[in-house]
Amino acid sequence: MCFLSLTVGIFYAAIDLLNSVHYALPIYAILISTPFCSLWLLKSSHIVTGKMILLLAALAATFFASVSDPFEAGVFMIYVPFSITSFALVGFEKRWINFSFCCLVGFTFYLAYFGNFRLPYEQNPPAHYLAISLIFNFIIAVGSSILMVYFLIELNAESETELREKEKDLLVKNSALEKLNQELDRFVYSVSHDLRSPLSSILGLTNLAKFENDTHELKKYMNMIQERVKAQDEFIKEIIEYSRNVRVELKSEEIPFHAFVFQHIEGLRYLEGANNINFEIDVHERLILQSDKARWKTILSNLIGNAIKYHDHRKEKRYIKINATLTGSFFTVAIEDNGSGIPEEHKDKIFDMFYRGTDASTGSGLGLYITSEAVKQLNGSIQVNSEYGKGSYFIVKVPVLNSAKT
Ligand code: ADP
Repeated sequence: MCFLSLTVGIFYAAIDLLNSVHYALPIYAILISTPFCSLWLLKSSHIVTGKMILLLAALAATFFASVSDPFEAGVFMIYVPFSITSFALVGFEKRWINFSFCCLVGFTFYLAYFGNFRLPYEQNPPAHYLAISLIFNFIIAVGSSILMVYFLIELNAESETELREKEKDLLVKNSALEKLNQELDRFVYSVSHDLRSPLSSILGLTNLAKFENDTHELKKYMNMIQERVKAQDEFIKEIIEYSRNVRVELKSEEIPFHAFVFQHIEGLRYLEGANNINFEIDVHERLILQSDKARWKTILSNLIGNAIKYHDHRKEKRYIKINATLTGSFFTVAIEDNGSGIPEEHKDKIFDMFYRGTDASTGSGLGLYITSEAVKQLNGSIQVNSEYGKGSYFIVKVPVLNSAKT
């Protein structure tokens, strides 16, 4: 609108000067100067005032033009876009301003053409000047009407798209909330069950131990209690890991991956049967990964831990192969074992919360769930290939921005 007012002002001033018509120059001065004032007001956040000043100045200029120019000049056509403009510029919430402005436009039109105004100067514009004015006033009236209607349609389309986006967002949030709710239900059920059952067996074992005099039997009970406490401790650790994974923000750190893998294997060596397994590590010694260390700790300790836990002790040459590669903007870690493998019917469910795929599991069934959540937080993916009786192959693929081999 500012641009329009400025252009019209300059354009008409030029035509008038070329035709030696001088009486309307003050009107053009208003049209040229107001946009600057309006822009200044808009910039200093006086939005409605900025827009209204421009509209009022343009209306005043139109009024004086319609009073000074003969009817044939066609200035009256400009009143039509004026009525639409206020609706396009000032929003629906302030519609009383729009209606008041419309009334003012109507009143000004009435005054200009039916009031008895005498101007203090002579107006005798040449005939060709009137013809040019008529054409330009028509073009301005039609052009600005189209502009305003187009602006309104665009505004409508924009708010429609915004609404659709918000609806989509809401649907995504809703399904995430539903998933969270289901998980919470399962969580409460499993936590209460898994926390209580070792306690009940410990209580039973202490009752038995109270009436036992044989030291050999007593030792057996103590070992059993110890096993239950260890399992309970593991379970609590996994719950803490789960909640930390959900709440703690991602942190970007440098991870020397070769040393990182070794460190994890060392930490898991105490697991039963681990020392009979041959670890084959294929990770570049100088591979530095820029990522969240805590999430990778969760991923590696669960995947390597499972590869150890679910080894087939009947097999002679047991191995776990760990391979890490950086290709393009993806970092891939593959962990392969020749352990027990996963039966086909369990493969889809092993990443579910509290899912145990075998009776041999002494864990909580949380490990792979936490792992897949950690991978998701790194915007990556995790997949499993496994053949029951032969072994499993887990592959984690994560996009990385600043990783580098140095
Ligand atoms: P948990 O080990 O506590 O049972 P996880 O979520 O870590 O829970 O694993 C879910 C299930 O997936 C396990 O119970 C097991 O049946 C199966 N599983 C995971 N990793 C392996 C593996 N490397 N080899 C065979 N089975 C596996």
